[in-house]
Order: sequence, then structure tokens, then C-alpha cells
Amino acid sequence: MRRNYAVVFLLALLLSCTAFPAGDEPLAGYSAAASRGERDWEGKLRAIPQAANLREYMHRMSARPHHVGSPYDKDNAEWILGQFKSFGLDARIESFDVLFPTPKTRILEMIEPSRYAAALEEPALAVDPTSGQKSEQLPTYNAYSGDGDVTAPLVFVNYGLPGDYEELERLGVSARGAIVIAKYGESWRGIKPKVAAEHGAVGCLIYSDPRDDGYFVEAVFPEGPMRNSYGVQRGSVMDFASSNPGDPLTPGVGATTDAKRLPLNEAPSITKIPVLPISYGDARPLLAAMKGPMAPARWRGALDITYHVGPGPAKVRLKVESNWDIKRLYNVVAKIPGSVAPSEWIVRGNHHDAWVNGADDPVSAQAALLEEARALGELLKQGWKPRRTIIYCAWDGEEPMLLGSTEWAEMHANELARHAAVYVNTDANSRGLIEMEGSHSLEAFINDVARDIQDPETGLSVWKRRQLSDIVRASSANDRSILRTRRDLRIRPLGSGSDYTAFLDHLGIASLNLSYGGEDPAGIYHSIYDDFYWYTHFSDIDFVYGRALAQTIGVTVMRLADAEVLPFDFTNLADTVKMYNRELQELLRDRQEESRERNQELDEGAFRAVSDPRRPAVDPVREEVPPFINFAPLQNSVDTLAQSAERYQKSIAKAQDKLSEPGSAALIQAVNEKLIQLERRLTSPEGLPRRPWYKHLLYAPGVYTGYSPKTVPGVREGIELKRYSEAEKEIVRVAQALADAAAAIDAVSQLLGKIGN
Ligand SMILES: [Zn+2]
Repeated sequence: MRRNYAVVFLLALLLSCTAFPAGDEPLAGYSAAASRGERDWEGKLRAIPQAANLREYMHRMSARPHHVGSPYDKDNAEWILGQFKSFGLDARIESFDVLFPTPKTRILEMIEPSRYAAALEEPALAVDPTSGQKSEQLPTYNAYSGDGDVTAPLVFVNYGLPGDYEELERLGVSARGAIVIAKYGESWRGIKPKVAAEHGAVGCLIYSDPRDDGYFVEAVFPEGPMRNSYGVQRGSVMDFASSNPGDPLTPGVGATTDAKRLPLNEAPSITKIPVLPISYGDARPLLAAMKGPMAPARWRGALDITYHVGPGPAKVRLKVESNWDIKRLYNVVAKIPGSVAPSEWIVRGNHHDAWVNGADDPVSAQAALLEEARALGELLKQGWKPRRTIIYCAWDGEEPMLLGSTEWAEMHANELARHAAVYVNTDANSRGLIEMEGSHSLEAFINDVARDIQDPETGLSVWKRRQLSDIVRASSANDRSILRTRRDLRIRPLGSGSDYTAFLDHLGIASLNLSYGGEDPAGIYHSIYDDFYWYTHFSDIDFVYGRALAQTIGVTVMRLADAEVLPFDFTNLADTVKMYNRELQELLRDRQEESRERNQELDEGAFRAVSDPRRPAVDPVREEVPPFINFAPLQNSVDTLAQSAERYQKSIAKAQDKLSEPGSAALIQAVNEKLIQLERRLTSPEGLPRRPWYKHLLYAPGVYTGYSPKTVPGVREGIELKRYSEAEKEIVRVAQALADAAAAIDAVSQLLGKIGN
């Protein structure tokens, strides 16, 4: 929702006299002396990033299409390598060989009741100089679609989620044997063909309805920022959430030249049916030719047609074939060795590959990464010595499904498990509010960083502006009260959809994902129009939020790298897990009440009674009422964790003054070694049910949502997917992990108690 920004501005003006930057209390994990030194260096760092540089980097990197396997993808990697070196950093390229399908045949034609051949083509626009680079652009397609040639009637399935098919059944319509047409949005795109295939569909079209990112929102490109009638969203449909992201042929290991590869037909993450993304220009004639029941009101989009669900009479032929080639990836990795604790690593990454020119996704944030690297290089020349090792990564192959970061993380899994303290990610950036997502052990830390960054538009701290905006948009008095009184803003849990996935979900490395945004609507995602012209006309046109991002992440990396004790905090983690526990119990209760009510209405004959004979509805299916589940183990562990977190806070507060005392070095090293391992305690080597690659027990992408996170996924999806005994077993597993984490926190507290004594 984008509303009430005027109110935010007004508040901002009223409050802009607030002192900035905030307080001189010692930073978390720093003694008073070290904290003063750090604040000095951070002040210098914040002054370095320049908007003009960000603009120049974007101009360079988005000048030509640069998808995996293209000449300019490699060219960019080599250029980034040169930039890192010119900043004085030790850098190299690490390559992998991955399966990356590109389009060979794409045919979509309506054969009944009238003929229409889909254009499947985004037109070049005279005002937009890179939109005409046809010979280098990837055609519109969904990577990792299954090959196929199918002819069938169309069924409209709304966003193509499981609940949509339940509604279709009530309308008496089945997708079996049909080609479904789904809208983009509401879930990650790969969920749509997955669910379609599970319901017996033989093919899947995904189109961008103008209600979601077209003229319904704002004027279309090039007059405005939104998707025009032939703009198409490319994208991967690899079924990564139920198997794993990364190269489909080398799950779990680095895709080196000599890695053992699965045969193509055994790769678990390739979509079962052919799927193709289309524009609303191409979707309109197909949807207009459909009949059958009216689509439910919530399903209808903003096309000037009457939305029916079918099946048919529109009948289409869909043919999709890919070149199933192995392509080379180029990750660019730069290292700044730590001066005191070189075996403790802070890893920072953003991808450099795009679907086409990718000025917004990913270059807007990749440019910030480069400017941070330049700033850190400057500080090194001025005498700054980071305590820990810092690793800067420009990933390749993110768009096909996190290929570069996943292969690198799998390749270096053992070292990362030992050494990596935190992974910090970005992906794209625009104008507006700070977005903070990540591990809740870093919630307090990242809130502190946000208090020290100035918002370019209001002069407030980006933290203050976020808080005020959240207050304005809060839906209840209770939420507003929490926003005003809780020390930290809640950060969102990580699902997937960017390069933190392997670090957090597979290796259990505490992670953050940060960006600015929310002010400018955009309808160019994964199209040829996501380019320099669009970005410099409709997004962060003067790159002030690019500079804010470079400052934010620069400070984040530096503060993590320099802290005497890694600035993890477990009170917010305990508070968050407590909230999840409550949510899960509510989820079960709601499910029980819903199915009890539905069964009662079935007994009463209510659905028959309200069914309109001219528009008949089928009764919903009777369901078993979910059983009660024992949450006690989780409840107990949540309490234990909260107590350990509190003890930890007291121990670190007591030790803070003594951190710089000579003689505490060995203890501090032992403390940090244990802290690095803490997020790993929240993982299980066996992984989640049916998807062992995903090892984190608190965060995972949803099997039926994709990018959106499922917290405590084993338990939550157990309840959602009606696997109640599995949910109960998962409760025990999560409870055990939390108890282990609590014990590990206590061990750190004990060590901290010895410092200076
Ligand atoms: Zn991206």
C-alpha cells in the first residue's frame, strides 16, 4: 500500500530539528574507546559515496544485455574485477559451469474460436536507446520450463495458488487437461506451473494484468513507469523451494567443471509442464474469447473485458522448447584480510547478472556495492584496519535461481561454516523507506545502523522515518503502541528470491537483506525496459538513495567487522520466536474453527440453500477437524531462550568496559568463535521434511509461496498442509534446537563473565 506519504513528509518537517546522527553511547560489542574510534571511521566512510559514481557504474553495467552466458555478462564481471583492484582490493573471478536453458521455440496461438498468434515480443521504443538491442536480448520466456507442445482449452486460475483451485472446484470447473492462464503476482511465479501440474493442467501461461503493474497503477512506459501492453516479465520457474536453488544438475555441491552431474531428466527442479510468460497485449484476446462461469470478483483484473474462468471455448496451442546448455558463470570475489581475527568473516554480496539490461535489478544495488568497496579501499589507505576479514562478492547467475551464490556457498561450505559470521545482501534499490529483513539475532544491530543513516529526503534518520511511516500505516492502536515503545522495529524474516538463501537456509549463517523503496511504482521488472533510461526517469533519478544504501551497508559491514564482540543480540530473537509460537497456535485454532464451521454448514445444507440455480456452486469438501497438537516443548524452549538472552545481555553489558583490556584477547576470540556458531544451532543436519537442502528450522521459503517466508516452516507447513503428526514431531525438533541455542548462549555468557576478572 502506498498512501499517506504526505503525512510522513509533514511529520518529517516538524521533526527535522532532531539531532543527527544519534547518541554517543558505546556501540554494541564495543568498549567505549573502540566505539569512539569506530564512530570516527564510520563518519569518514559515510562521506565517501558519491551519487555521480553510482550513476556512472549503472550507465556502464546496464549498457548492454548481460544475462548468464552473454558476452556482456563476462565483460561486466571483468570490469568489476578491475574496479575492485583499482580500489586496492585483492580480487579474483571464481567460475562455475551451470545448466542455463535459453529459448529455442516459443509458439502461442489461439486456434478456436478465432485465430490469434501471440507476438511474444517487446517492441523497441524510440526514446529508450537500449530497448532496441534486439540481437543481444533474451526473448521473453520462463527459464527451466519443461519442453512441450500442447493444445488444450484455457482455464483462468486467478493467481494460480492452491486456494484458487479450490474456488474453481466450487464453480464446477477443473483444470485437468487444460492450459491454465494465471496472473503474475501474489506468489513467486514458479508456484503457478507447479500447482497447475498438480491439478492436471498440461500447460501454463502467466500474464501481467494491468491492475497489478500496468495502467491501473500509473501511466505506462515510456510516458510513465508502468508496464505497457507488450511488456513481459521474464523469470525462472525452477522449483527451488521444494528441492534446492542453484544449478539443477549439481545439488549440494559446487558446479565445477569436473563435478558429477545428474542427467537432465533426473533434475528435480525443472518444471513438469511447459510455461510461458506473456504480456497483457497477448493475454487480452485469449481472455476475451473465454466463456463459462464469471470469474469471482476478486479475480478480475483491469482489462476492458468480462473475466470468465472457462474452460474454453478459447483453445490454444503452446509450444516451448529450450536449448539445455551448460553456461559459465563469473562470480567476482574481493577480500580484505582481518588484522586481529582474520578467520572471522563478514560476507557481503549482490548479483551482477540481469535478465536484460537490468538497471534496477540488480545494477541499482550492485552500484552501491561497488561504491562501498571503493569507500573501504579509501579507508584502508588512510590507515583503517578491519578486525575481521571482509569478503565482497558480485554474484553471477542470480536471475536463473541464485546460481552463482549457491554454487559458491556449496563449494566453500566447510570454510563458511567455520568462519562466516554474517552475510549481508542487497539486490535492487529505489527511493523511499529502509527495508530491513534478516536473522533476528541481528535485529537490534541493524536498527542501530539505521539510526545512524540520514534519509536524503527528510533529513531524519532512516530509522525514524520508517518508524513514523509504520505508525501512520498501522492497523490497530496496539500496533501503534508497540511501534512507539519497542526499542527496535521488527525486521522481516527472510524467505527467498535473492542470494542470501544458501547462506542462511543451507549453511545457517546469520543474514541481512537491505534496500530502500516504496515511493516509486515500477512496471518494468524483468523486461527490456528495466534500463538506464527508465531508472533515470522514474526511480532514484539523482542516486541519493543509492548513496544512502552504500552508506547503510558500508556502515553495516564495517561495524560488524570491527566490533570486539560480534554484535548479536538474543532478546529480540527470543521475542520473535515467542511471537511465532503464538501465531502457530492461533493458526491451528483457526483451522480447527474453520473446518468445524464448514462441516456444520454442510450438515445444515447451507451451501445448497444459497446456491443460485442459474449459477450453481458445488459443495466444498468435508474435512477432518485438525487434532490438538502439543506445543508444550516449544513453549518451554521459548522461555529457556528468553532467560538465556536476558543473562547474555547482562553479561555483555558488564564486560563491555573491559573489552579493550590487554589479556582479554583470548577470551574474546573464544566468545566470537561461539557467537559465529550460534545461528547454526538453529539448523538441523537432516533439514526440513522432504527438502533436506533447507536446514534452518526458523526460516525457509514456502513450498507454496516461493519467495515469501515461512517461519518455523516444519511446524507451520505441517499445519497448513494437514500433516499434523509431522507438525508435532517438528515442534520437538525446533524446541531441541532452541534449547541447544540457549545453552550455547549461556556458555558465551560464562566466558564473558571471565573477561577482566
Ligand atoms: Zn535481482
